[in-house]
Amino acid sequence: MTSRTPGAGALPPTGAAATPAVPPTDPTTTPSPTASTHGTRLDPWLDAYADRAHGMRASEIRALFAVANRPEVVSLAGGMPYLEGLPLDVLADMTRRVVATRGTVALQYGSGQGDETLREQILEVMRLEGIDAHPDDVVVTTGSQQALDLVTRIFVNPGDVVVAEAPSYVGALGVFRAYQADVVHVPLDEHGLVPAALDETLTALARQGRTVKLLYTVPNFHNPAGVTLSAERRPQILAIARRHGVLVLEDNPYGLLGFSGEPLPALRSLSSDGVIYLGSFSKTFAPGYRVGWAVAPHAVREKLVLASESSILSPSNASQLSISAYLSTCDWRGQIKAFQELYRERRDAMVGALGEHLPDASWTVPDGGFYTWVRLPEGLDAKAMLPRAVTARVAYVPGTAFYFDDRGHDHMRLSFCFPTPERIREGVRRLAGVVAGETEL
Ligand code: PMP
Repeated sequence: MTSRTPGAGALPPTGAAATPAVPPTDPTTTPSPTASTHGTRLDPWLDAYADRAHGMRASEIRALFAVANRPEVVSLAGGMPYLEGLPLDVLADMTRRVVATRGTVALQYGSGQGDETLREQILEVMRLEGIDAHPDDVVVTTGSQQALDLVTRIFVNPGDVVVAEAPSYVGALGVFRAYQADVVHVPLDEHGLVPAALDETLTALARQGRTVKLLYTVPNFHNPAGVTLSAERRPQILAIARRHGVLVLEDNPYGLLGFSGEPLPALRSLSSDGVIYLGSFSKTFAPGYRVGWAVAPHAVREKLVLASESSILSPSNASQLSISAYLSTCDWRGQIKAFQELYRERRDAMVGALGEHLPDASWTVPDGGFYTWVRLPEGLDAKAMLPRAVTARVAYVPGTAFYFDDRGHDHMRLSFCFPTPERIREGVRRLAGVVAGETEL
């Protein structure tokens, strides 16, 4: 009975088999490829799923959250911004005012492209990174995660190639996998994506007759690598992509969270027709509003709006109007500065603790954002070690989560955004104990 697999269109079986007990899972480990790719035999709809659903699996981060959220665990795993730094009482008043004065708009359906006033304000935010655009170029999305989904939906056929940094943001890899793309990684170093390696990869793919649809890149304070694409490399990357006829997908949620100097010019500021730019209020303000945006060449933008309307009709007006009110009535630039200082102090705590407790490892020293990328001492496997780390009450994300293939065992991503400096130091101290235990195994 448990292996019954009705075809598409069949009614689900009734009785106990219709609601099979979910087997207990160990949230500290990644689901095995068998369970994740093909589902469990307890699922009566197993053979009904579309091909694209077969590649969908819980990310290592997601599986971790249940355990990492326990108060006794120091989580260096998640990328959650530290919202206690926000003036919550001011935001509460602002939200009340939005509903009281504009409730029939805020609580109504809205434009598929997004609120026009907010789109104008987004231009002001983007100007800080040199982007000159028109409100019509902007599509408001439900976080930049939805924008990643929309872009992939309108460009990628099954089997098409998306070229992405090695390593890459786990959430983007999940989207590419869902649309059955094949991700080909290109190395990055301390100055970001390596132009010569990109050129070589695109040339080899062309020779193999592969169709490359997108170059996905996080140029600033990379998730997970922590590095930033240098100013010199930016035009080089764009020129290579243009020469190979590949559209650049620039994902930039962290660009304004630099710890020193001015933001570098966005790739979109250097090319308006070869780049789709993604921005977000999640890290510079708050992710709970779920507001991000895409800026795209005109024809692409029209497709994005149609794709978004077909999936969500319109982004939340309540969220958009709240963010719009925040931008027009609060000192959002000052808030970003406060976040920069807060995260810089935590970055310092992280790299200081790594230097003190894990001298045999190596790590990137990010000049902004939330993450450092740690290479473990020779022979250690971050994925295999994770259950022991959680037992020692510290969590991280193993490097394997950030590759489309089976690389990354020797790396881990450590986040310094959420825990206090004191907790960061304690977390790294615990981690060092786990690493010492591994070398003794
Ligand atoms: N891109 C990157 C590189 C991210 O790190 C994240 C969030 N972790 C996102 C996109 C998605 O962010 P949101 O949907 O909250 O805007």
